[in-house]
Amino acid sequence: MKVAKLYSFSDIRIEDIPVPQIGSYDALIKTKACGICSGDVMPWYIEKKAPVVLGHEPVGEIVELGSALYHYNTPFSVGDKVFVHHHAPCLNCKYCNRGDYVQCNTWQNTKIIPGGISEYILIPETNLKNDTLKLPETMSYEDGTLIEPTACVVKSLKRASIKEGDTILIIGLGVMGQMHVLLAREFGAKKIIGADMIQFRLNKALEFGADHVIDISKENFIDRLKDLTNNFMADIVIVGPNSASAMQQGIKAVASGGTVVFFTPARPDEMLTIDPNYIYFRDINIVTSYSCGPDDTKKALRFISKGIVTAGKLVTHRFAIEETEKAYRLTAKAKDSLKCIIEFGDRQ
Ligand SMILES: [Zn+2]
Ligand SMILES: [Zn+2]
Repeated sequence: MKVAKLYSFSDIRIEDIPVPQIGSYDALIKTKACGICSGDVMPWYIEKKAPVVLGHEPVGEIVELGSALYHYNTPFSVGDKVFVHHHAPCLNCKYCNRGDYVQCNTWQNTKIIPGGISEYILIPETNLKNDTLKLPETMSYEDGTLIEPTACVVKSLKRASIKEGDTILIIGLGVMGQMHVLLAREFGAKKIIGADMIQFRLNKALEFGADHVIDISKENFIDRLKDLTNNFMADIVIVGPNSASAMQQGIKAVASGGTVVFFTPARPDEMLTIDPNYIYFRDINIVTSYSCGPDDTKKALRFISKGIVTAGKLVTHRFAIEETEKAYRLTAKAKDSLKCIIEFGDRQ
């Protein structure tokens, strides 16, 4: 079977490897589609995992189930359309009990084999039991690839603790920023403001429900935000770009009593300097949001089923597995693309 393997940021190869042999509690899927994650195009992040089979947003059809599963009333059958989460928690430890699934040791050590951009994928027992979801018959595989990234946004908006009527500012309107725009109102936001420097993205945000956009290449970001908020600034700020300077901007843009969400890590050599009294006397909350857990993927599936987040809105480019390199480069450049996905064989 073919896989797309990254050796370094500039070296992606299509290789032929054997289809994995499943154990008696595992399952095997024939991959139908897999998204390329905007997080996977941060060179320092992906290169520490290299060599690695790319992709962690796959959907597919179950083609084989481990023999023991038949004795355990598994909810899955051969032929099911499924979303598979690449990490799955134990659901038993201290972290899982608090809902902090991504801190669970099992979550951090589980993975699908060999990765998402692969013609077949082995789903280990824990992933199958604790974070594999059946797609509704009517949901397309393309829509299914959005479950994992949408779940990351669900978690981010949950951690933002939006109060009814809040103004939310979303800094960075790549695909993840656009998903925040699409979902913010579902979590209670009233006014949605997007900020970016690329016209295509600013237009998309307006199309997807943003009330205002700030073009930071042309406008003074803080002055414009003051105008749009009667000098209050934004109750909630989502920081998308992966840099400490974007985080600083986020802290400057938040209203007193408000919350800043760091949605993306900074680069590993950066430090964030904060004036503690600036945040103390304003009661500013800073929260992070790393990846997502099984509660978030279930909610994401519902938002996609309802048509709030769809491939029709967000998937701008589709590629065959042989073109993974091209898809990866386009995702890295972003510009006039939102989501790039790899499609396998017959489309549906
Ligand atoms: Zn992702
Ligand atoms: Zn756990």
